Amino acid sequence: MPHSLTDKQVLKIAVLGAAGGIGQSFSMLLKTQLHTLLLPHSDKHLHVAMYDINKDAIVGTVADLSHIDTPVTLSHHFPASRDDLSALKECLADAALIVIPAGVPRKPGMTRDDLFAINAKILLQLSDGIASFCDLSKIFVLVISNPVNSLVPVMIKRLSQHASSKGSLIERRVFGLTQLDMVRASTFIQQLTGFASNATPYIPVVGGHSGDTIIPMFSQVMFKDERLPLDMEQRKSLIHRVQYGGDEIVKAKNGAGSATLSMAYAAFKITRKFVDLLLGNATSLQDTLYISLKDASGNYIAPGAQELMALINVSYFSIPVTVSTKGVTHVDSEILNRMDDYERNTLLPVCLKNLQGNIETGLNFVN
Ligand code: NAD
Repeated sequence: MPHSLTDKQVLKIAVLGAAGGIGQSFSMLLKTQLHTLLLPHSDKHLHVAMYDINKDAIVGTVADLSHIDTPVTLSHHFPASRDDLSALKECLADAALIVIPAGVPRKPGMTRDDLFAINAKILLQLSDGIASFCDLSKIFVLVISNPVNSLVPVMIKRLSQHASSKGSLIERRVFGLTQLDMVRASTFIQQLTGFASNATPYIPVVGGHSGDTIIPMFSQVMFKDERLPLDMEQRKSLIHRVQYGGDEIVKAKNGAGSATLSMAYAAFKITRKFVDLLLGNATSLQDTLYISLKDASGNYIAPGAQELMALINVSYFSIPVTVSTKGVTHVDSEILNRMDDYERNTLLPVCLKNLQGNIETGLNFVN
């Protein structure tokens, strides 16, 4: 007897800003790929709730995607007026994972920080909605909106001000997505060297997600168990391209926005790991995420966070972590000890100085 939908447990993923460039292509990946994570005869069902303030765009996008023949179901949600919270409430009700690409993207000549004032207000509103309508002791939040370096502190600080966050350890479950930097590092090294055409090289990228706060650790690139020899000129040009790769897209789109398709791909890579975790297919996931090292009481969020803080002395950083259903369980501070002299003495100090400013901008925005 086939299961009916009502027999099944629903795993709900909410996408906020789902009708935009990233939101549409990301939601298409969710609709077309997510069900492949369900085990045979699973009693689980996947639902994607798509929220946007642009009514026509969200209704049209969901109508279009809903003709795709996969078992992942969709719903659209838009507010009827500026003060209407009912659509956000409906979208967030019982969600286990929230992905946020809401906001404005860069235009030529804008830095990610120029976006801050606009997008910080949006993230504050969404944080208040999440605090009101979600169980903060369980929910996971992935922030795509830029500038990630400042907006994740905005969101975590605002969430932790809500009474509903007390004892929830929400700081362990809100992350900034820096996956696109790793995707770019991997792509650009293949383009430059033509190496490993059948394998995707993994390059650790740590720090932040803006210009020279991004530290691609090309010293760690392995090929056939050996370090890939790169001369310093090649390395510097690769590092610059990863740090400012977003500008290539902004320029190429000539005013029509920033990276959307590659970002949707990068966001999907990590989202599918969270869905695997939440479906119970895995007990933990490992990836690089932009995290808060401390919770609202000043305690380190997980083993490894204190050791990392001792090395960097900033309170937010993108770093390989292990995540269970309870949130971050381990921070891989060791990776910084694997930096070579150039990464440690040249790239890291510049990153930390700028990242500190970005974090303060975010924290100071929230009263
Ligand atoms: P977009 O303008 O195409 O889409 C943004 C969507 O957000 C729009 O549909 C808009 O209606 C919606 N929106 C605005 N305010 C909202 C609100 N209060 N609630 C719900 N929805 C709201 O932009 P995009 O190209 O999809 O980019 C989205 C964000 O992602 C930008 O901030 C961009 O800079 C950022 N981005 C991040 C990365 C990364 O690596 N983390 C990469 C590329 C872009």
